[in-house]
Amino acid sequence: MAIYVKSVIMNIFFDLDGTLIDSRERLYFLFQHLVKESDLSFDEYWKYKRSKISHRDILLKIFRYSDHQISVFEEKWMLCIEEKEWLVFDKPFEGVLDYLNSIRKKHVLFLITARQSKVKTIEQLDRLGFLDVFERVFITGQKLEKYDLIANVINLSKEDWFVGDTGKDIQTGKKLGMRTAAVLSGFLSKESLLEYYPDLIATDVMKLSFG
Ligand SMILES: [Mg+2]
Repeated sequence: MAIYVKSVIMNIFFDLDGTLIDSRERLYFLFQHLVKESDLSFDEYWKYKRSKISHRDILLKIFRYSDHQISVFEEKWMLCIEEKEWLVFDKPFEGVLDYLNSIRKKHVLFLITARQSKVKTIEQLDRLGFLDVFERVFITGQKLEKYDLIANVINLSKEDWFVGDTGKDIQTGKKLGMRTAAVLSGFLSKESLLEYYPDLIATDVMKLSFG
């Protein structure tokens, strides 16, 4: 007797920064550029960030910044963070493009990111060879939530997946009624991500198997 395995086509949503590309150098170098007095190493900076210690707290507690200095920093940060001179530090995680090309044979892949600039994000995705992989790219432009961009636009089922590196990604996937996978390749530690109860936790996306 033949056994038929039901193959389910799933929608899989991937976050970009920290999930598909390593943006840690971009953020660290920009921080060092803006905070001239900082002698934090890459590892020290990311140890704070991965424990969910915000820039505000780092600036306040370590560098004794005033509220005004913090506001100036935050404004400059938002202005610079997606500029080309900083985006060049981004690198796709090794093997991620091959991985995406292999799973897109069975599933429908979407990219969802909270970047500010649609034009610069599309340019970068094109440059990195990511653009053809996705059925559709969603960019919040920091004007909408990721949830608002997807809900009522894509027909979702509870078989679908939301993959990201932050608590917000996991919360978004859950709110959309999807399964959630957290990856440790990005901005948060395992301890920080466990607080959001993702269905899966993996060191990076390549460890995720969707069948
Ligand atoms: Mg991310």
